[in-house]
Order: sequence, then structure tokens, then C-alpha cells
Amino acid sequence: MYADLDPAATLAWLAAAHATVLVHGHTHRPAQHVLAPGLTREVLSDWDLAARPPRAEVLRLTARGLERVAMAPHVGSSHCSQGCARAGPAPMPHVLRKLWHQLRATVAPVPAISATLWLETLQRYPFLAALPLHDQAKLRALSALFLHHKQFHGAHGLTVTDAMAIDIAAQACLPLLHWGDAAAALGWYDDFVGIVVHPGEAVARRQTMDEAGVVHEHTEVLLGEAMERGPVMLSWQHVANAGHNTERGTNVVVHEFVHKLDMRSGAPNGCPPLPAGFMGTRTARAAHEAWWAAWEPAYANFRERVIMAQRFGAPPPWLDAYGATAPAEFFAVACEAYFVNRAQFAQEFPALMPVLDAFFRQAP
Ligand SMILES: [Zn+2]
Repeated sequence: MYADLDPAATLAWLAAAHATVLVHGHTHRPAQHVLAPGLTREVLSDWDLAARPPRAEVLRLTARGLERVAMAPHVGSSHCSQGCARAGPAPMPHVLRKLWHQLRATVAPVPAISATLWLETLQRYPFLAALPLHDQAKLRALSALFLHHKQFHGAHGLTVTDAMAIDIAAQACLPLLHWGDAAAALGWYDDFVGIVVHPGEAVARRQTMDEAGVVHEHTEVLLGEAMERGPVMLSWQHVANAGHNTERGTNVVVHEFVHKLDMRSGAPNGCPPLPAGFMGTRTARAAHEAWWAAWEPAYANFRERVIMAQRFGAPPPWLDAYGATAPAEFFAVACEAYFVNRAQFAQEFPALMPVLDAFFRQAP
């Protein structure tokens, strides 16, 4: 008789144990089962070294993650003249690599950010230095956990130093500051691991199709980019300059990471998922109505001002004109200003202040 684990029961066990991987030993059907995104079941073979071929799998935890390794006797010559392909563990699939990072982040202690490096980061970014001391302490702990979960990659030979990673982490975590428990707050960013840092602006090739069906190619200069369930890309030059741009209220890290918040409810549209009871509302629908009641007129008005400036020579608005390209960009650009130059933003957009405060300052 053959029986297998019930997937629902397996998921319930994992949830009860707060675990992401279930190891199932000594079976006849070794495999890796992805039960749900980030949740896997590793099934090892039974042990019978006398069998042909012998069976004896073990699970090995390496820097690359969990690997099922067959303990069968080594077969083959000890040297080869050309192109030796030694049998070994298969490269870790993406889902397993992600799982490994989650697992490591769960079990390993979170190293604190050194006081020296942290103070240097605060000095580089006046809007961080201006935070009350208890908020700075919270931000430091959040940033440490963020660094523990995320992987930085330098593009075009750029080396991402600890100081650079801390700069990015602190600004990325700023929107999460008032959302209670650090691990729960960072759950907003749990759909990706990688942060790609370019030395300067990145150039992306884009294709668009016009109404006649003709495809046009153009290039787009990017300071940063957030991909749905994918990595975040940042231009280091702009991250580093952010400390000097607080007057203008711009900040590339905040911009890309609030896109990530917006994307938690699907394609970015300028409205992130709203917490229950948002602004005293009773239903999700009422919460969204309250959101858009503030954002729609603010966006329409801002677009109007940008058009007047660009076409008719009116004085340009203070907020970055890029915000007039789409509601999602307006939300991201507004959040940049809200976090780095709150006083000026409050003057420019008084109607958005209570909405952003309700979203960012209300514990979930
Ligand atoms: Zn954007």
C-alpha cells in the first residue's frame, strides 16, 4: 500500500512549527516538492547500499543551501584528459536559493550595525539625523534585519561596501518605521531578495507599440527600478546624492521601495494595500474611497501645474515633475518628499498629509 503526505496537513505542520522546510527521510520517492512559494518538502531516499544502484541520500546544508546528495560509491576514473564533468550536486534551483536565504535569516543571529557606521550614515542623510533618538534606534534595528535578509549585487564592477549597504537599508526601511515589530514590518519586502546597485544611471532598452502596431525602440535612463516580485535596482550616484537633495524632496531609495509597497496589491497604481480601519473606515472599499478622495484631486492639480510649466512657462512646481507621468509615480514622488522634507511637503500638499500619516504612522 502506498500513502503520501496530505499537502494541507504538511502546510499546517509547517505553520505550526514556524518552519519553511519539511524534511522527509527514508522513502522510495526522493524529490523536492515546492508546497507553496518559499515552502518546500525535501524527500530523501531510503538507504540500501547493496541495491544496484545503491541508494543512500543525505541532506547537506552548505553555503549554497540545502542539497540532496547521493552517497553512492564513486564511479569513474581519477583523472581525465579533457573536459571532466564530475558528478556532483545539481546547481541549486532559484526557489531553493531563496528558501536558503529565508532559512538562514530565521536561524542565524542578526548582526547589529556598528555604531560608527550607523553614525556615518546618519550624518550623510539629514532627514535620518533629524529623527528622534528612539526612531533612530528602531531604524537601526530594522536596517540590520533588512541587511540580514537582502543580498546586494554591484553592477559593472561596483563593490557594494558595508557603508553603502547600510545607507540603502536605512532609507529603504524609513517607510516601515512605525509599523511595529521589525520582522513583521519587513514582511512588506519579502517578495524579493536582490538589490542591484549600478555605479550611475542605468540605460534600459524599451519597446512600445503605437496605434498602427509599429514597434518603436527607445532607451530610458533609470535612476532606479522596482520590479514586481523582483529585485530593486538603484543608481549609487543618486543614492549617495540623496543627502544633498532634501531641499528638493527627492530620494531614489524611498521612491523605489514605496513602489514595492504599492506593488503588494498588484501592478502599481498609486494605492498600496490599506490596513483595516484606515482613517476610521469600516470596509476596504471605504478605505480606498478615502484614499482616492485625497489623491485624485491632488494628482490632477499637480499634472495641470506641470503642463502649465512645461508648455506655457508657468513656474515649475516644487515636487519632481516625474510624478505627473502616472498615479503610481505621483505616489512614489510624493512619498520621497514626505519622508525627506516633511515641512515643505506639508505646505505643498496639505490634503495628502493626513492620508500619508494614517498610512505610515499608524501601527498596523
Ligand atoms: Zn517610479
